[in-house]
Amino acid sequence: MNIKYNIIEQLFILFLILTIATGCKDNSPNATNDLQNSASDANLNTPSQNFGIVLHGGSGSMEKGKMSPELEAEYTAKLSEAIKTGYDILEKGGSSLEAIEKTINILEDSPLFNAGKGAVFTNDKRNELDASIMDGKTLNSGAIASVTTIKNPITLASAVMQKSEHVMLAGKGAETFAVEQGFELVSPSYFQTERRLKAIERILEREKASGGDNPQAATYTPPSIDEKFGTVGCVALDKNGNLAAGTSTGGRNNKKWGRIGDSPIIGAGTYANNKTCAVSSTGWGEFFIRGVVAYDISALMEYKGLSLKAATDEVVQNKLAAMGGSGGVIAIDNEGNMSMEFNTKGMYRASMNKKNGLYVGMYGN
Ligand code: ASP
Repeated sequence: MNIKYNIIEQLFILFLILTIATGCKDNSPNATNDLQNSASDANLNTPSQNFGIVLHGGSGSMEKGKMSPELEAEYTAKLSEAIKTGYDILEKGGSSLEAIEKTINILEDSPLFNAGKGAVFTNDKRNELDASIMDGKTLNSGAIASVTTIKNPITLASAVMQKSEHVMLAGKGAETFAVEQGFELVSPSYFQTERRLKAIERILEREKASGGDNPQAATYTPPSIDEKFGTVGCVALDKNGNLAAGTSTGGRNNKKWGRIGDSPIIGAGTYANNKTCAVSSTGWGEFFIRGVVAYDISALMEYKGLSLKAATDEVVQNKLAAMGGSGGVIAIDNEGNMSMEFNTKGMYRASMNKKNGLYVGMYGN
């Protein structure tokens, strides 16, 4: 009798423990997000609520108070429009690849940024555009370099990825491929803006006066905000757990001899891998190429188990800075965590997800 009573009592206690354990979910936003963000969610390709998108519009010396309120408002409006466009695509179940392409198209079409219309000028006063895109699910990628007649370079990079057997096409060949794919070419003059023309004229004058444009020279005058910045990039995680990254740029102001920077180079300017994260870079491209910056962030996560925050911080604030490189990255990992890391004074940037809503920033913290 006593033994029977003991068993019933123990079963009742076990029942109580199970009820409490399953009923007591932590309802704080972080805990909910962690559950939704579990890696198995992404791997199983089940619809997930941790989708999100981050963009940059270039890093540089933007400081609060130095920009007119009107220009600041223009940047805020365009960054918001672009990020919301991408977010809407993701929310409706669209792919991260589509979201980043459409987001970047908006920035390419705006003369505010150094990509598409409004690109900086080369030393011989032309606009040469570079772009790349990467699919984190398949590791497929596409890139174009030194094109002068492609209105939306990121869209051509996407066509290279999807419709050619190659990863990177440059110059005339890329434009021939574009025509074969039904792209309409624009006149090279489409990309020119008064603001960028004045900037290159100022730089060339300065170069003549000081005998060069070498940043290491004692006579070097750092470029003003109009002269250098505005490369654009975007990374996203979609509801199917797929990551994508893309970058589009006019390159560096006053570039010579067919110079190509990091933006069209997979692993330097752009990288995406569903195992880890998606990254787009902006800054002094030569350093990003030498540091293989975008891939380095992914590798730190894959091989050393670093978090996205720790990996972007290590590469941008330590490795890149120690090399003398300036700039920043935007990144998102396969759980929807986001990072916007820069070692310059500012970086045009925006992000959007369900948990935190819309964020737009320009200056340092
Ligand atoms: N990274 C680009 C390049 O070097 C420029 C930039 O991001 O400002 O071409």
